[in-house]
Amino acid sequence: DVKTDENVTFSDLAISELTLNSLKTAGFIKPSPIQLQALPLALLGLDLLIQAKSGTGKTLVFSITALEFVQAIDNDDNENSTVITTKVIILAPTREIAQQIVQVIKTIKQPECIVHTFIGGTSVKDDQTHLKKCNIVVGTPGRVEELLRLKYLRPDTIRLLVLDEADVLLCKEFQEQINSIFSYMPLNKQVLLASATYPEHLIRFSERYMRDVTCIRLVDSQSPSLIGIQRFYMLIPHHPLDSHLFEQKVLLLLRILPELKFRQCLIFSNLRMRSSAVCERIKSLGYETTYTSSSLAQNRRTKAMRDMYKHKCQILVTTDLTSRGIDLDFVDFVISMDLPNDSETYLHRIGRAGRFGAYGCSLTIVAQGDEQKQLEKIQNEYKLNLIETDESQRFQVL
Ligand code: ADP
Ligand code: MG
Repeated sequence: DVKTDENVTFSDLAISELTLNSLKTAGFIKPSPIQLQALPLALLGLDLLIQAKSGTGKTLVFSITALEFVQAIDNDDNENSTVITTKVIILAPTREIAQQIVQVIKTIKQPECIVHTFIGGTSVKDDQTHLKKCNIVVGTPGRVEELLRLKYLRPDTIRLLVLDEADVLLCKEFQEQINSIFSYMPLNKQVLLASATYPEHLIRFSERYMRDVTCIRLVDSQSPSLIGIQRFYMLIPHHPLDSHLFEQKVLLLLRILPELKFRQCLIFSNLRMRSSAVCERIKSLGYETTYTSSSLAQNRRTKAMRDMYKHKCQILVTTDLTSRGIDLDFVDFVISMDLPNDSETYLHRIGRAGRFGAYGCSLTIVAQGDEQKQLEKIQNEYKLNLIETDESQRFQVL
């Protein structure tokens, strides 16, 4: 048999029987292109910069690597097998992504491997207890740094450090925390960066903190995460002095929602204070709807995401808190009530509608004038081919 990329399965990679079985049980049979390229090198212990568009399966690359690490080391030092030490730290820019990574690892891990989320908005005392028995720490930079500083998290046994959404984690916002976290780490460790883009600061960082970095880049001319997604926009008349623009958009939204066919829908806006009001008004149409934003208490954020993952809710009203990295496989419609400040975030919003090559639809509601111009700019920059539509026309999903 000649093995081509198409008929390679996870069992052709150097993955342990245990992990292979749980991958199979979870329904993962064939590695995606980025997994096929990155996993063999990651499993060899190389420092990698893994770049591929969102929705291509980067999470499994570092999750499998982490699990293999924990197993291999545990087999090595049998004498200490009663002591559970932390071998892996995985960092993510939002609490929601961290929680999602833990869910992915839980679906493929062995029962004896312990993985836990360490994020802001939860009790540090509880974290201290969990850390006494934790193989894989998944968390946000602020909390992980705090736990290292408090010496609750012992860095000396760490052998693998992962930065998911590394392009975001290496931005100014997190710079100090990331530098501090690296300063605690032992020299002898593997570092994996996963990113959807390949900006200059990522390369500089890797030169500073990583050993002989191997870059694995899967770049297509058209962003693969957007290939199956039909992209519409609607214009709303707007006078610059009119202060009720958002209200007009909400009214339009309430009129068109019943026309749309979707399994689950995300509604993005920049205005996190409006999320709850918008949510209530959509609920009055009869949809199971929830909302989230960074100003909500952590337990409510967690519940909102859980209701979406479990398909208890059909619609999530949200902000750019969930525009990146979030993987809700039932989401096939994304509505943007406005445009985010940077155009890349707009692509990430749309990308939520077509995870792992699924078909979906996106609709952006923009006001005539400045907003419309901004959309045109994004459109040209990324060759997006947005289709204008209005209330009289129907949306057709591919
Ligand atoms: P990324 O981090 O690159 O944006 P994710 O890791 O979140 O993408 O994966 C996107 C989706 O693809 C998830 O729903 C995941 O379960 C699915 N997926 C990943 N790898 C595979 C695979 N080998 N086979 C089938 N589905 C996969
Ligand atoms: Mg991801």
